[in-house]
Amino acid sequence: MTTADLTHVDHLIVGAGFGGLCAAIKLDEDGERDFVVIEKGSGVGGTWRDNTYPGAACDVPSQLYSYSFALNPDWSMSFSPQPEIEAYIKRVAEGSGTLDRFVFDTAMTDATWDETQQRWLVQTEGRNGKKTYAATTVIAGPGALSEPKLPEIEGIEGFQGEIFHSAKWDHDVDLTGKRVAVIGTGASAIQIVPEIQKKAGRLDVYQRTAPWVLPRNEHRYTKLEKAAFRHVPGVQRVARAAVYWGLEVRVLGLAMQPKLTMAHQLKAQGNIRRGIKDPELRRKVTPDYTLGCKRTLISNAYYPALDADNVDVITAGIDRVTDNAIVTKDGTTREIDVLVVATGFYTTDLPIAHHITGSKGRTMAERFAEVGMSAYKGTTVPEFPNLFFVVGPNTGLGHSSMVYMIESQVTYVRDAIRTMRTNGYATVEPTEDANSAWNDDLQDKMANTVWSEGGCASWYLDKHGRNTTLWPSFTFLFRHLTSKFDVDKYAVTAIDQPTSNQESVPA
Ligand code: NAP
Repeated sequence: MTTADLTHVDHLIVGAGFGGLCAAIKLDEDGERDFVVIEKGSGVGGTWRDNTYPGAACDVPSQLYSYSFALNPDWSMSFSPQPEIEAYIKRVAEGSGTLDRFVFDTAMTDATWDETQQRWLVQTEGRNGKKTYAATTVIAGPGALSEPKLPEIEGIEGFQGEIFHSAKWDHDVDLTGKRVAVIGTGASAIQIVPEIQKKAGRLDVYQRTAPWVLPRNEHRYTKLEKAAFRHVPGVQRVARAAVYWGLEVRVLGLAMQPKLTMAHQLKAQGNIRRGIKDPELRRKVTPDYTLGCKRTLISNAYYPALDADNVDVITAGIDRVTDNAIVTKDGTTREIDVLVVATGFYTTDLPIAHHITGSKGRTMAERFAEVGMSAYKGTTVPEFPNLFFVVGPNTGLGHSSMVYMIESQVTYVRDAIRTMRTNGYATVEPTEDANSAWNDDLQDKMANTVWSEGGCASWYLDKHGRNTTLWPSFTFLFRHLTSKFDVDKYAVTAIDQPTSNQESVPA
């Protein structure tokens, strides 16, 4: 490849969801205007663009589910429906003046560190064919829940009816009067089920593990409230702060003393009793692990939908799928017309890691296979200089808004770039020692959390039982720890300095 074939940019951002967009807006604000955002979908929004299933809504309160620099006084409800969130992200993007640098319908297919030139060579493929970028930094915001996971069930690929994943909803399929099956009872399924129940002739819900479902404190904002949010200084910030602290105290139960989740567990048991009359069904849907171990869900409509006459909850375990039915392990065959697969996403193996090759010539996935999925402060990875994750390993939350975590990480990345400019650094790369110390401490903290002790299997844990997805503490602590780029934890090279002279900067 000749230099002429390369498009040079200072920063290449992957993904135009909440994370990538935040990075673009904040870099632009800092005068770092030479960037490009590569997005495989046809617009901004990430998970909120892709998940259009009936009933899709956010289970984090609206007041906290927006950027702190772009509050939205117009949320209609205390928990926003998906179309409102997607519209919000679009509005913020359009108002930001950065969209001219977004390349849609284009995937990053490979990113390889070029040691001699100290830059990333990033291959993309899409709308405008193939292209290679040379970028000083890569900011990866691929989303933690962006690659739908299909279940490994015998025969499923031979099913002849309609079949689709919750994140790829087929709106052309009319479910009215049909025999529908939903596999899964996670966050997506419990929003889908009440909507399908209203239309379907029959609905079979295949539950492998019962979720804990709390009542949803629904409230439609009045005109007066919206006017106050818009016009009275500070009102919306106070509402936001109240929501933030209300959620933050849950960390005490989740990450410190699981017994403290008992009050919520009693509330969830009340939700079952209120929603379901049939004692046998109540028993079936009552989890046998501590609340919080898997993501706690919220719904007022899920249990009444399960109790409806046209719905069956099936717990026998799926043996196989035939061309027109699901056969359970007890030998029962249930014929269906439509199969909705609400079985979640790849979370503990970070699919983008297979496409990134670092300074040692191995992919990030190969590194993770050896040392486990881990990053320093959830953001940077040894062997991968000048690469920053937004929503990286151990930055997920079981209790609050990811937008808060995203803004924290973007602050850190901005300060890293500022530090590189100010000091004339060509590269920054976290040291193995810093990375190990960070992750050892994090895993120590995991030991006493409900995610480790709660008695469940969950997608938070990798195949070795290690929690590589969640942040095990208060979010304000994460914000504090990412408020400044700690260059003393990094190996750096100066511009024009030979790479073999890598050295650590003294603290
Ligand atoms: P999920 O939480 O991973 O749930 C997947 C469901 O499918 C689980 O019930 C799982 O059972 C089941 N399952 C997986 N493989 C199966 C198999 N082979 N046979 C039978 N059942 C199987 O996925 P999700 O519901 O799509 O939610 C993923 C995440 O997206 C959530 O945790 C949340 O972070 C996010 N989300 C958020 C919102 C929101 O409102 N903000 C809404 C939707 C989703 P097991 O429990 O036994 O594994």
